[in-house]
Amino acid sequence: MPCGMFTNLLRMRLLINSTLASLAALVFLTSTAPAKAQLPPRPDTLSVAGFVQPQPLMQSLNSTETVTSPANQLTAPTPAPAAPRKFTYTCCNVEGSYVAMTFDDGPHPKLTPKLLDFLKERGIKATFFVIGKNVAEFPDIAKRIVDEGHEIANHSWTHPQLTKLSPSAFAAEIAQTNEAIEKATGVRPVTMRPPYGAINANLTKRLNEEYGLSVILWSVDPLDWKIRKSDHVSSHIIKNAAPGGIILAHDIHASTVDAMPGSFDALLAKGYKFVTVSELIAMDRPPAPKAASQKTP
Ligand SMILES: [Zn+2]
Repeated sequence: MPCGMFTNLLRMRLLINSTLASLAALVFLTSTAPAKAQLPPRPDTLSVAGFVQPQPLMQSLNSTETVTSPANQLTAPTPAPAAPRKFTYTCCNVEGSYVAMTFDDGPHPKLTPKLLDFLKERGIKATFFVIGKNVAEFPDIAKRIVDEGHEIANHSWTHPQLTKLSPSAFAAEIAQTNEAIEKATGVRPVTMRPPYGAINANLTKRLNEEYGLSVILWSVDPLDWKIRKSDHVSSHIIKNAAPGGIILAHDIHASTVDAMPGSFDALLAKGYKFVTVSELIAMDRPPAPKAASQKTP
């Protein structure tokens, strides 16, 4: 399924959960990207012609870890020009079978370390959208996430529906989480995922301009929070993974973590390579122009 279709499916899902006003804002957002807002320069980004080009996040901040496993070796980036960085991603248009595995709602004291072992055994890099208060409670696990080369990202402080908060409560959710992550790991996040995928254009703009955060949604959702069966989780992921995909899962459910070895091994056997969300974004390319239909004489 092409990347754009994922976007449409997700848009339909958000239609159910959002007010008409926020939907209109979302449609505006996704249909007008790249936006023209001038973004403030940040130490870990490079501003090019008004857009922020992502740097390999963990490589610059955690240079001791690189992707070295033969099963997950990264090939040299293609010379095609990168797409302008967008504010929101549900998936990316990439050359090659790259996917980003993402885990929300941790760190969990037992399950996250178990998952980290599974990832380490396979040389797989993933992205962890962490809850700020969990980071404050388990800073050593957050540090391990970063030390082992994964991306750590903001998933709010208490997991509220951000669209229902006052501006000051919204700011506290984001800023406190950024601070807890930075205190525990030394890394400042550049990506975030809104709980429940609930977001609108105004909040997206604030996240980008005030906090330097891109909004990351997803293109594969096994509903692992609801269907607590490892077989279901792994078969959904294996069946629906596609190049450029962003796969959603939660490292706070045993059934999900137990589903990961089988999911990883099956995707590796299919030739998929796992990258962090920021690495996937860095590979995002504009869709190829459609060939003009020509009538043969
Ligand atoms: Zn969540």
